[in-house]
Amino acid sequence: MDKYDFLIIGSGIFGATVAERLKSAGKKVLVIDRRAHLAGNIYSYMDEKTGIEVHAYGSHIFHTESDEVWDYITKFADFNDYVHTVHTRHDGKLYPMPINLDTINLFYGTNLSAAEAEKFIKQKAEKIDRPKNFAEQAKSLVGTELFEAFLKNYTEKQWRDSAEHLPAALLSRIPVRFSSDARYFMSAKHQGIPKNGYTNLIKNLLKGIDYKLNTSFKDLEPSLKNQTIIYTGAIDELMDYEFGALPYRSLRFETETVENSAQKEAVINEADADVPYTRTHSYKYYQIHSPEIINQPLSVISREYPADFKIGAEAYYPVNNEDSEALYQKYLSAAREKYPNMYFGGRLGAFRYWDMDIAVKNALDLSEKILKETK
Ligand SMILES: Cc1cc2nc3c(=O)[nH]c(=O)nc-3n(C[C@H](O)[C@H](O)[C@H](O)COP(=O)(O)OP(=O)(O)OC[C@H]3O[C@@H](n4cnc5c(N)ncnc54)[C@H](O)[C@@H]3O)c2cc1C
Repeated sequence: MDKYDFLIIGSGIFGATVAERLKSAGKKVLVIDRRAHLAGNIYSYMDEKTGIEVHAYGSHIFHTESDEVWDYITKFADFNDYVHTVHTRHDGKLYPMPINLDTINLFYGTNLSAAEAEKFIKQKAEKIDRPKNFAEQAKSLVGTELFEAFLKNYTEKQWRDSAEHLPAALLSRIPVRFSSDARYFMSAKHQGIPKNGYTNLIKNLLKGIDYKLNTSFKDLEPSLKNQTIIYTGAIDELMDYEFGALPYRSLRFETETVENSAQKEAVINEADADVPYTRTHSYKYYQIHSPEIINQPLSVISREYPADFKIGAEAYYPVNNEDSEALYQKYLSAAREKYPNMYFGGRLGAFRYWDMDIAVKNALDLSEKILKETK
């Protein structure tokens, strides 16, 4: 351990970005990860039979509004021009999602113009003063019919909670559009998929940096010298859950190779209550730079099932509310006291849902701070 200045716990996009920045400033860095592979939750692998790049922890599309993040990340991978769109399946029919002009016309069997649709939805929208929960927020935006068809069951399945109990803020990410624009990430200035896969992106970030897999922080802790540590794991686990576990939702993926699949796009949301999964992924549609991959009869498909989180399961979505925020802050203070030479980051260390670009931006900022503070 003597030869390293910095130890980075976690080889996800956050840890790998910090590692790259510190190494390029001349520091000696070791990255460890307890998993058997690099790249954390953006890990992807090439299915040998089909050549399809499978996103092992669910579909990942890189998208960002930030030139800084895009200029940085594209130094480490060639991205294709994939633009994400999604359909939602309801009663056996596919509708564009988020709800747009075409969704409205298809659902109601109308042929409204943008201006007419806006008026129509205004009439449908319920007058609710300060929506107190997800159901009220949705009804106040799109009315009860669209809420019940497209938003209610999907969200209840994902969070295993009733729409009347879930926070209104969950819906700020699903706007209604009165145009046919079907781009899922409408405000993204840049988006795409790394042509050689996400794991190669991470390998390129870690070029010339030592890393060890199948190694957890607790394995290495006894041999630490005075290294500065960047910890991107879960903070409650680090502190042996002394105040109880932070709340998360988990997922389970059922993956198979199928012939002549009816699915002709990367993601279909499953809006109905009698379908127990929330999304069906078909990964080949991300490889728009390889028509031979897309045009073959085989597809690798994953069905994404929401799952309860128990200690030891994969933590996917933090359940952020006042109580969990207070618990997180308590852990953060205790961890800072116990490990004065440790920085916390990444989606787990911050107990936040972060898209990849936000993880990269936070990693770039933290690296600068670390380099200043450890001069
Ligand atoms: C279902 C799903 C879909 C998503 N889709 C998108 C998308 O389309 N676009 C997008 O931009 N973002 C997406 N995201 C978000 C994206 O996954 C995150 O931004 C990204 O994974 C964050 O990287 P990270 O490095 O912070 O965390 P992680 O990728 O979780 O990396 C943390 C690493 O630390 C390791 N680790 C933890 N504890 C220890 C320990 N004690 N010792 C050793 N190693 C440890 C873990 O094994 C892991 O490899 C999605 C997230 C989910 C859940």
